[in-house]
Amino acid sequence: MTADLSLSPRGIEIRARLAAFLEEVFYPVEAELDAEMDALDGPEPFGPLMIALRKQAREAGLWNLFLADESLGHGLNNVDYGQVCELLGRSMWAPMVTNCHFPDTGNMEILHQYATPEQRERWLRPLFDGEIRSCFALTEPDVASSDPTGITTTAVRSGDDWIINGRKWFISNAVGAQLCILMACTDPGAEPHLRGTMFLLPMDTPGLDIVRRVPIFGHAGGPGHAELRLENVRVGADAVLAHPGSGFLLAQERLGPGRIHHCMRSIGWAERAQEYAVDRAATRPHRDGVLAQSQLVREMLARNRIDIDAARLLVLRAAHAIDTAGKHRAYREISIAKAHAARATQEVVDRAMQIHGALGLSDDVPLTRFWAMSRALRIGDGADEVHLMTIAKHELRRRGHDRDR
Ligand SMILES: Cc1cc2nc3c(=O)[nH]c(=O)nc-3n(C[C@H](O)[C@H](O)[C@H](O)COP(=O)(O)OP(=O)(O)OC[C@H]3O[C@@H](n4cnc5c(N)ncnc54)[C@H](O)[C@@H]3O)c2cc1C
Repeated sequence: MTADLSLSPRGIEIRARLAAFLEEVFYPVEAELDAEMDALDGPEPFGPLMIALRKQAREAGLWNLFLADESLGHGLNNVDYGQVCELLGRSMWAPMVTNCHFPDTGNMEILHQYATPEQRERWLRPLFDGEIRSCFALTEPDVASSDPTGITTTAVRSGDDWIINGRKWFISNAVGAQLCILMACTDPGAEPHLRGTMFLLPMDTPGLDIVRRVPIFGHAGGPGHAELRLENVRVGADAVLAHPGSGFLLAQERLGPGRIHHCMRSIGWAERAQEYAVDRAATRPHRDGVLAQSQLVREMLARNRIDIDAARLLVLRAAHAIDTAGKHRAYREISIAKAHAARATQEVVDRAMQIHGALGLSDDVPLTRFWAMSRALRIGDGADEVHLMTIAKHELRRRGHDRDR
Protein backbone atom coordinates (compact mmCIF):
# COMPACT_ATOMS: atom_id res chain seq x y z
CA MET A 1 0.00 0.00 0.00
CA THR A 2 1.33 3.46 -0.85
CA ALA A 3 0.07 6.34 1.23
CA ASP A 4 0.78 10.04 1.13
CA LEU A 5 1.51 10.82 4.77
CA SER A 6 2.77 14.33 4.16
CA LEU A 7 1.27 17.38 5.84
CA SER A 8 -0.96 19.66 3.77
CA PRO A 9 0.05 23.34 3.51
CA ARG A 10 -2.59 24.11 6.15
CA GLY A 11 -1.24 21.36 8.40
CA ILE A 12 2.30 22.75 8.04
CA GLU A 13 1.13 26.24 8.93
CA ILE A 14 -0.88 25.13 11.99
CA ARG A 15 1.89 22.84 13.21
CA ALA A 16 4.42 25.69 13.01
CA ARG A 17 2.12 28.07 14.88
CA LEU A 18 1.41 25.45 17.52
CA ALA A 19 5.14 24.72 18.00
CA ALA A 20 5.81 28.44 18.50
CA PHE A 21 2.90 28.76 20.95
CA LEU A 22 4.15 25.82 23.00
CA GLU A 23 7.70 27.20 23.16
CA GLU A 24 6.79 30.81 23.87
CA VAL A 25 3.62 30.58 25.95
CA PHE A 26 3.07 27.07 27.25
CA TYR A 27 6.36 25.44 28.32
CA PRO A 28 7.44 28.42 30.50
CA VAL A 29 4.39 27.85 32.75
CA GLU A 30 4.01 24.09 32.32
CA ALA A 31 5.16 23.20 35.87
CA GLU A 32 2.85 25.82 37.36
CA LEU A 33 -0.03 24.42 35.30
CA ASP A 34 0.77 20.85 36.45
CA ALA A 35 0.38 22.02 40.06
CA GLU A 36 -2.83 23.92 39.33
CA MET A 37 -4.42 20.95 37.53
CA ASP A 38 -3.34 18.57 40.26
CA ALA A 39 -5.22 20.67 42.81
CA LEU A 40 -8.39 20.89 40.70
CA ASP A 41 -11.31 19.65 42.77
CA GLY A 42 -14.44 20.65 40.83
CA PRO A 43 -17.07 21.83 40.27
CA GLU A 44 -15.15 24.43 38.20
CA PRO A 45 -13.89 22.81 35.00
CA PHE A 46 -10.62 24.78 34.84
CA GLY A 47 -8.27 26.76 37.10
CA PRO A 48 -7.28 30.40 36.42
CA LEU A 49 -3.99 29.67 34.62
CA MET A 50 -5.66 27.07 32.40
CA ILE A 51 -8.43 29.57 31.57
CA ALA A 52 -5.84 32.22 30.66
CA LEU A 53 -3.87 29.81 28.45
CA ARG A 54 -7.02 28.59 26.71
CA LYS A 55 -7.98 32.17 25.93
CA GLN A 56 -4.54 32.78 24.43
CA ALA A 57 -4.68 29.57 22.40
CA ARG A 58 -8.10 30.44 21.06
CA GLU A 59 -7.01 33.94 20.11
CA ALA A 60 -4.01 32.41 18.36
CA GLY A 61 -6.36 30.25 16.24
CA LEU A 62 -5.24 27.05 17.98
CA TRP A 63 -8.64 25.78 19.07
CA ASN A 64 -10.69 22.65 18.28
CA LEU A 65 -7.95 21.49 15.93
CA PHE A 66 -9.36 17.93 15.87
CA LEU A 67 -12.55 18.88 14.03
CA ALA A 68 -12.35 17.85 10.40
CA ASP A 69 -15.50 19.88 9.63
CA GLU A 70 -14.14 23.14 8.21
CA SER A 71 -17.16 25.17 9.31
CA LEU A 72 -16.38 24.34 12.96
CA GLY A 73 -12.69 23.54 13.14
CA HIS A 74 -9.70 23.85 10.85
CA GLY A 75 -10.54 21.21 8.28
CA LEU A 76 -7.51 19.06 9.13
CA ASN A 77 -7.76 15.47 7.98
CA ASN A 78 -6.49 12.66 10.22
CA VAL A 79 -3.01 12.59 8.66
CA ASP A 80 -2.65 16.32 9.31
CA TYR A 81 -4.16 16.16 12.75
CA GLY A 82 -1.93 13.19 13.61
CA GLN A 83 1.14 15.33 13.23
CA VAL A 84 -0.41 18.27 15.08
CA CYS A 85 -1.67 15.97 17.86
CA GLU A 86 1.82 14.55 18.30
CA LEU A 87 3.03 18.03 19.22
CA LEU A 88 0.15 18.41 21.69
CA GLY A 89 1.10 15.07 23.24
CA ARG A 90 4.50 16.43 24.27
CA SER A 91 2.79 17.68 27.39
CA MET A 92 0.05 16.44 29.66
CA TRP A 93 -2.03 19.61 29.40
CA ALA A 94 -1.39 21.08 25.94
CA PRO A 95 -4.39 19.14 24.54
CA MET A 96 -6.68 20.81 27.09
CA VAL A 97 -5.20 24.25 26.42
CA THR A 98 -6.31 23.89 22.78
CA ASN A 99 -9.66 22.21 23.58
CA CYS A 100 -8.38 18.98 22.01
CA HIS A 101 -8.39 16.80 25.13
CA PHE A 102 -9.76 13.34 25.77
CA PRO A 103 -12.58 12.48 26.35
CA ASP A 104 -14.17 15.75 25.23
CA THR A 105 -12.96 15.37 21.64
CA GLY A 106 -14.69 12.02 21.17
CA ASN A 107 -17.76 13.28 23.00
CA MET A 108 -17.95 16.36 20.78
CA GLU A 109 -17.62 14.20 17.70
CA ILE A 110 -20.55 11.95 18.56
CA LEU A 111 -22.66 14.88 19.74
CA HIS A 112 -21.91 16.64 16.46
CA GLN A 113 -22.99 13.55 14.54
CA TYR A 114 -25.99 12.37 16.57
CA ALA A 115 -27.34 15.01 18.97
CA THR A 116 -30.68 16.73 18.43
CA PRO A 117 -30.66 20.53 17.91
CA GLU A 118 -31.67 20.99 21.58
CA GLN A 119 -28.94 18.63 22.82
CA ARG A 120 -26.40 20.40 20.62
CA GLU A 121 -27.36 23.77 22.03
CA ARG A 122 -27.27 22.52 25.60
CA TRP A 123 -24.04 20.47 25.45
CA LEU A 124 -22.15 20.73 22.20
CA ARG A 125 -21.99 24.52 21.93
CA PRO A 126 -20.48 24.99 25.43
CA LEU A 127 -18.05 22.13 24.75
CA PHE A 128 -16.95 23.69 21.47
CA ASP A 129 -16.59 27.02 23.24
CA GLY A 130 -14.67 25.43 26.08
CA GLU A 131 -17.08 26.57 28.80
CA ILE A 132 -17.60 23.08 30.23
CA ARG A 133 -15.92 19.67 30.32
CA SER A 134 -17.40 16.20 29.91
CA CYS A 135 -16.64 12.58 30.72
CA PHE A 136 -17.52 9.26 29.11
CA ALA A 137 -18.73 6.36 31.28
CA LEU A 138 -18.72 2.84 29.95
CA THR A 139 -16.39 0.72 32.13
CA GLU A 140 -17.82 -1.05 35.20
CA PRO A 141 -16.20 -2.64 38.25
CA ASP A 142 -18.27 -5.83 38.18
CA VAL A 143 -17.90 -7.04 34.57
CA ALA A 144 -15.07 -7.39 32.04
CA SER A 145 -15.71 -4.15 30.21
CA SER A 146 -13.48 -5.01 27.25
CA ASP A 147 -16.72 -6.50 26.00
CA PRO A 148 -19.26 -3.71 26.56
CA THR A 149 -22.20 -5.90 25.56
CA GLY A 150 -22.10 -7.29 29.11
CA ILE A 151 -22.49 -4.04 31.03
CA THR A 152 -24.84 -4.23 33.99
CA THR A 153 -25.83 -0.59 34.55
CA THR A 154 -29.52 -0.51 33.65
CA ALA A 155 -31.87 2.14 32.37
CA VAL A 156 -35.53 1.24 32.75
CA ARG A 157 -38.46 3.18 31.34
CA SER A 158 -40.82 4.93 33.74
CA GLY A 159 -43.47 6.70 31.69
CA ASP A 160 -41.54 9.06 29.42
CA ASP A 161 -38.54 8.99 31.77
CA TRP A 162 -35.69 6.57 32.32
CA ILE A 163 -34.43 5.37 35.71
CA ILE A 164 -30.73 4.49 35.74
CA ASN A 165 -28.94 2.33 38.31
CA GLY A 166 -25.40 0.98 38.36
CA ARG A 167 -21.71 1.66 38.89
CA LYS A 168 -18.96 2.90 36.61
CA TRP A 169 -15.26 3.32 37.27
CA PHE A 170 -12.05 4.69 35.76
CA ILE A 171 -14.13 7.54 34.38
CA SER A 172 -11.49 10.02 33.25
CA ASN A 173 -11.95 13.73 33.83
CA ALA A 174 -15.16 13.25 35.82
CA VAL A 175 -14.06 15.72 38.51
CA GLY A 176 -15.01 19.17 37.22
CA ALA A 177 -17.11 17.79 34.35
CA GLN A 178 -20.64 19.06 33.78
CA LEU A 179 -21.74 16.35 31.33
CA CYS A 180 -21.43 12.57 31.53
CA ILE A 181 -22.14 10.54 28.41
CA LEU A 182 -23.09 7.20 29.92
CA MET A 183 -23.78 3.81 28.44
CA ALA A 184 -26.53 1.72 30.07
CA CYS A 185 -28.28 -1.50 29.19
CA THR A 186 -31.85 -0.69 28.09
CA ASP A 187 -32.90 -4.02 26.60
CA PRO A 188 -31.21 -7.08 28.17
CA GLY A 189 -33.24 -9.42 25.94
CA ALA A 190 -32.10 -7.87 22.65
CA GLU A 191 -29.22 -8.99 20.43
CA PRO A 192 -26.00 -8.16 22.32
CA HIS A 193 -25.15 -5.17 20.10
CA LEU A 194 -28.63 -3.68 20.46
CA ARG A 195 -28.80 -3.77 24.26
CA GLY A 196 -27.08 -0.51 25.07
CA THR A 197 -28.11 3.14 24.94
CA MET A 198 -26.14 6.32 25.55
CA PHE A 199 -27.52 8.97 27.87
CA LEU A 200 -26.52 12.58 28.33
CA LEU A 201 -26.46 13.14 32.08
CA PRO A 202 -25.78 16.44 33.80
CA MET A 203 -23.20 15.61 36.48
CA ASP A 204 -25.38 17.28 39.12
CA THR A 205 -28.38 15.01 38.43
CA PRO A 206 -29.74 13.73 41.79
CA GLY A 207 -28.57 10.14 42.39
CA LEU A 208 -25.42 10.48 40.26
CA ASP A 209 -22.43 10.64 42.62
CA ILE A 210 -18.67 10.52 42.39
CA VAL A 211 -17.94 7.89 45.04
CA ARG A 212 -14.16 8.31 44.95
CA ARG A 213 -11.22 9.13 42.79
CA VAL A 214 -9.48 5.95 41.66
CA PRO A 215 -5.74 6.54 42.14
CA ILE A 216 -3.50 5.53 39.22
CA PHE A 217 0.09 4.65 40.22
CA GLY A 218 -0.48 6.42 43.52
CA HIS A 219 -1.80 9.59 41.88
CA ALA A 220 -5.38 10.74 42.44
CA GLY A 221 -5.27 14.50 41.78
CA GLY A 222 -6.86 16.72 39.18
CA PRO A 223 -9.73 15.80 36.83
CA GLY A 224 -8.76 12.22 37.71
CA HIS A 225 -10.33 8.85 37.09
CA ALA A 226 -13.47 8.45 39.16
CA GLU A 227 -15.84 5.80 40.36
CA LEU A 228 -19.48 6.79 39.82
CA ARG A 229 -22.60 5.47 41.51
CA LEU A 230 -26.04 5.84 39.94
CA GLU A 231 -28.99 5.31 42.26
CA ASN A 232 -32.42 5.82 40.78
CA VAL A 233 -31.17 8.56 38.49
CA ARG A 234 -34.22 9.89 36.67
CA VAL A 235 -33.83 11.53 33.27
CA GLY A 236 -36.28 12.46 30.53
CA ALA A 237 -36.46 11.01 27.02
CA ASP A 238 -34.46 14.03 25.85
CA ALA A 239 -31.40 12.57 27.60
CA VAL A 240 -31.15 9.71 25.08
CA LEU A 241 -28.45 10.21 22.46
CA ALA A 242 -29.62 9.04 19.01
CA HIS A 243 -32.15 6.30 19.83
CA PRO A 244 -32.50 3.43 22.33
CA GLY A 245 -30.35 0.45 21.31
CA SER A 246 -27.80 2.51 19.38
CA GLY A 247 -25.23 2.72 22.19
CA PHE A 248 -22.74 0.20 20.80
CA LEU A 249 -22.81 1.71 17.36
CA LEU A 250 -22.08 5.10 18.88
CA ALA A 251 -19.30 3.63 21.03
CA GLN A 252 -17.65 2.22 17.89
CA GLU A 253 -18.06 5.53 16.08
CA ARG A 254 -16.46 7.30 18.98
CA LEU A 255 -13.58 4.91 19.51
CA GLY A 256 -12.07 4.59 16.02
CA PRO A 257 -10.46 8.01 15.55
CA GLY A 258 -10.20 8.43 19.34
CA ARG A 259 -7.81 5.50 19.54
CA ILE A 260 -5.68 7.05 16.88
CA HIS A 261 -5.66 10.38 18.74
CA HIS A 262 -4.31 8.63 21.86
CA CYS A 263 -1.60 6.98 19.79
CA MET A 264 -0.67 10.29 18.16
CA ARG A 265 -0.30 11.92 21.57
CA SER A 266 1.72 8.96 22.82
CA ILE A 267 4.29 9.52 20.07
CA GLY A 268 4.65 13.05 21.44
CA TRP A 269 5.41 11.57 24.89
CA ALA A 270 7.96 9.20 23.37
CA GLU A 271 9.63 11.87 21.24
CA ARG A 272 10.01 14.18 24.22
CA ALA A 273 11.30 11.31 26.39
CA GLN A 274 13.92 10.60 23.72
CA GLU A 275 15.03 14.24 23.74
CA TYR A 276 15.52 13.97 27.51
CA ALA A 277 17.39 10.68 27.06
CA VAL A 278 19.71 11.97 24.35
CA ASP A 279 20.53 15.16 26.25
CA ARG A 280 21.14 13.28 29.47
CA ALA A 281 23.32 10.67 27.82
CA ALA A 282 25.35 13.33 26.02
CA THR A 283 25.98 15.44 29.13
CA ARG A 284 26.05 13.10 32.13
CA PRO A 285 29.72 12.77 33.18
CA HIS A 286 30.76 9.14 33.31
CA ARG A 287 34.28 7.86 33.90
CA ASP A 288 36.48 9.92 31.54
CA GLY A 289 33.63 11.03 29.29
CA VAL A 290 29.83 10.96 29.22
CA LEU A 291 27.19 8.23 29.35
CA ALA A 292 26.61 8.38 25.60
CA GLN A 293 30.01 6.83 25.01
CA SER A 294 28.73 3.52 26.32
CA GLN A 295 27.64 1.15 23.56
CA LEU A 296 24.81 -0.09 25.77
CA VAL A 297 23.42 3.41 26.21
CA ARG A 298 23.74 4.06 22.47
CA GLU A 299 21.80 0.90 21.78
CA MET A 300 18.95 2.21 23.94
CA LEU A 301 18.93 5.50 22.03
CA ALA A 302 18.92 3.66 18.71
CA ARG A 303 16.13 1.30 19.73
CA ASN A 304 14.10 4.28 20.86
CA ARG A 305 14.43 5.90 17.45
CA ILE A 306 13.36 2.72 15.66
CA ASP A 307 10.35 2.26 17.96
CA ILE A 308 9.22 5.88 17.64
CA ASP A 309 9.52 6.01 13.86
CA ALA A 310 7.78 2.66 13.40
CA ALA A 311 4.95 3.78 15.70
CA ARG A 312 4.56 7.07 13.86
CA LEU A 313 4.40 5.37 10.48
CA LEU A 314 1.80 2.86 11.65
CA VAL A 315 -0.32 5.55 13.27
CA LEU A 316 -0.20 7.78 10.20
CA ARG A 317 -1.00 4.80 8.00
CA ALA A 318 -4.11 4.21 10.12
CA ALA A 319 -4.96 7.93 9.92
CA HIS A 320 -4.60 7.74 6.13
CA ALA A 321 -6.84 4.66 6.02
CA ILE A 322 -9.52 6.53 8.00
CA ASP A 323 -9.21 9.53 5.66
CA THR A 324 -9.41 7.50 2.47
CA ALA A 325 -11.47 4.37 3.27
CA GLY A 326 -13.48 5.60 6.27
CA LYS A 327 -13.20 4.55 9.91
CA HIS A 328 -15.34 1.44 9.42
CA ARG A 329 -12.87 0.02 6.90
CA ALA A 330 -9.80 0.99 8.90
CA TYR A 331 -10.19 -1.26 11.96
CA ARG A 332 -7.26 -3.49 11.03
CA GLU A 333 -4.93 -0.53 10.60
CA ILE A 334 -6.25 1.10 13.78
CA SER A 335 -5.68 -2.08 15.81
CA ILE A 336 -2.16 -2.55 14.44
CA ALA A 337 -1.28 1.07 15.23
CA LYS A 338 -2.84 0.97 18.70
CA ALA A 339 -1.24 -2.33 19.74
CA HIS A 340 2.18 -1.24 18.50
CA ALA A 341 2.21 2.42 19.58
CA ALA A 342 1.08 1.80 23.15
CA ARG A 343 3.78 -0.80 23.80
CA ALA A 344 6.48 1.00 21.82
CA THR A 345 6.00 4.32 23.59
CA GLN A 346 6.02 2.62 26.96
CA GLU A 347 9.34 0.94 26.11
CA VAL A 348 10.84 4.18 24.79
CA VAL A 349 9.95 6.04 27.98
CA ASP A 350 11.21 3.13 30.06
CA ARG A 351 14.64 3.26 28.35
CA ALA A 352 14.73 7.03 28.84
CA MET A 353 14.12 6.47 32.56
CA GLN A 354 16.90 3.87 32.67
CA ILE A 355 19.36 6.29 31.08
CA HIS A 356 18.44 8.90 33.71
CA GLY A 357 19.10 6.56 36.63
CA ALA A 358 17.30 7.57 39.82
CA LEU A 359 16.40 10.97 38.35
CA GLY A 360 14.27 9.18 35.75
CA LEU A 361 11.93 7.93 38.45
CA SER A 362 11.56 11.32 40.10
CA ASP A 363 9.01 14.02 39.39
CA ASP A 364 11.82 16.41 38.41
CA VAL A 365 11.46 15.11 34.85
CA PRO A 366 8.17 14.28 33.08
CA LEU A 367 9.14 10.66 32.38
CA THR A 368 7.11 9.05 35.16
CA ARG A 369 3.94 10.72 33.86
CA PHE A 370 4.69 9.63 30.30
CA TRP A 371 5.37 6.11 31.51
CA ALA A 372 2.13 5.95 33.50
CA MET A 373 0.11 7.25 30.55
CA SER A 374 1.70 4.86 28.07
CA ARG A 375 1.22 1.91 30.45
CA ALA A 376 -2.43 2.88 30.85
CA LEU A 377 -2.80 3.13 27.08
CA ARG A 378 -2.05 -0.60 26.84
CA ILE A 379 -5.36 -1.18 28.66
CA GLY A 380 -7.56 1.83 27.89
CA ASP A 381 -9.36 2.06 24.54
CA GLY A 382 -8.98 -1.67 24.00
CA ALA A 383 -6.36 -3.75 25.80
CA ASP A 384 -3.38 -4.96 23.75
CA GLU A 385 -4.91 -8.44 23.57
CA VAL A 386 -8.20 -7.19 22.16
CA HIS A 387 -6.36 -5.52 19.28
CA LEU A 388 -4.11 -8.55 18.75
CA MET A 389 -7.24 -10.69 18.45
CA THR A 390 -8.62 -8.34 15.80
CA ILE A 391 -5.37 -8.44 13.84
CA ALA A 392 -5.17 -12.24 14.06
CA LYS A 393 -8.77 -12.55 12.86
CA HIS A 394 -7.91 -10.52 9.76
CA GLU A 395 -4.83 -12.68 9.15
CA LEU A 396 -6.89 -15.87 9.31
CA ARG A 397 -9.54 -14.41 7.00
CA ARG A 398 -6.94 -13.34 4.46
CA ARG A 399 -6.09 -17.01 4.04
CA GLY A 400 -9.73 -18.05 3.86
CA HIS A 401 -9.97 -19.47 7.38
CA ASP A 402 -13.34 -17.97 8.09
CA ARG A 403 -14.31 -20.30 10.87
CA ASP A 404 -12.45 -18.07 13.32
CA ARG A 405 -14.72 -15.38 14.79
C1 LIG B 1 -6.09 5.48 32.87
C2 LIG B 1 -7.37 4.88 32.42
C3 LIG B 1 -8.39 5.73 31.99
C4 LIG B 1 -9.63 5.19 31.60
N1 LIG B 1 -10.64 6.05 31.25
C5 LIG B 1 -11.87 5.54 30.98
C6 LIG B 1 -12.99 6.40 30.72
O1 LIG B 1 -12.85 7.62 30.70
N2 LIG B 1 -14.21 5.84 30.53
C7 LIG B 1 -14.40 4.49 30.54
O2 LIG B 1 -15.52 4.05 30.34
N3 LIG B 1 -13.36 3.64 30.77
C8 LIG B 1 -12.11 4.13 31.00
N4 LIG B 1 -11.05 3.29 31.28
C9 LIG B 1 -11.30 1.87 31.35
C10 LIG B 1 -10.81 1.08 30.17
O3 LIG B 1 -11.49 1.42 28.99
C11 LIG B 1 -10.98 -0.40 30.53
O4 LIG B 1 -10.10 -0.66 31.61
C12 LIG B 1 -10.70 -1.35 29.38
O5 LIG B 1 -11.73 -1.27 28.41
C13 LIG B 1 -10.59 -2.80 29.86
O6 LIG B 1 -11.71 -3.16 30.60
P1 LIG B 1 -11.51 -3.84 32.05
O7 LIG B 1 -10.64 -2.98 32.87
O8 LIG B 1 -12.86 -4.16 32.57
O9 LIG B 1 -10.67 -5.14 31.74
P2 LIG B 1 -11.25 -6.61 31.39
O10 LIG B 1 -12.28 -6.49 30.34
O11 LIG B 1 -11.60 -7.28 32.66
O12 LIG B 1 -9.97 -7.28 30.74
C14 LIG B 1 -8.83 -7.64 31.53
C15 LIG B 1 -7.76 -8.21 30.63
O13 LIG B 1 -8.27 -9.38 29.98
C16 LIG B 1 -7.68 -9.52 28.70
N5 LIG B 1 -8.72 -9.54 27.68
C17 LIG B 1 -9.87 -8.85 27.65
N6 LIG B 1 -10.57 -9.11 26.53
C18 LIG B 1 -9.84 -9.97 25.80
C19 LIG B 1 -10.01 -10.62 24.54
N7 LIG B 1 -11.10 -10.40 23.77
N8 LIG B 1 -9.04 -11.47 24.14
C20 LIG B 1 -7.95 -11.69 24.89
N9 LIG B 1 -7.73 -11.09 26.08
C21 LIG B 1 -8.65 -10.26 26.54
C22 LIG B 1 -6.74 -8.33 28.52
O14 LIG B 1 -5.44 -8.67 28.91
C23 LIG B 1 -7.31 -7.32 29.49
O15 LIG B 1 -6.35 -6.35 29.90
C24 LIG B 1 -9.81 3.80 31.61
C25 LIG B 1 -8.76 2.95 31.99
C26 LIG B 1 -7.56 3.47 32.39
C27 LIG B 1 -6.45 2.55 32.84
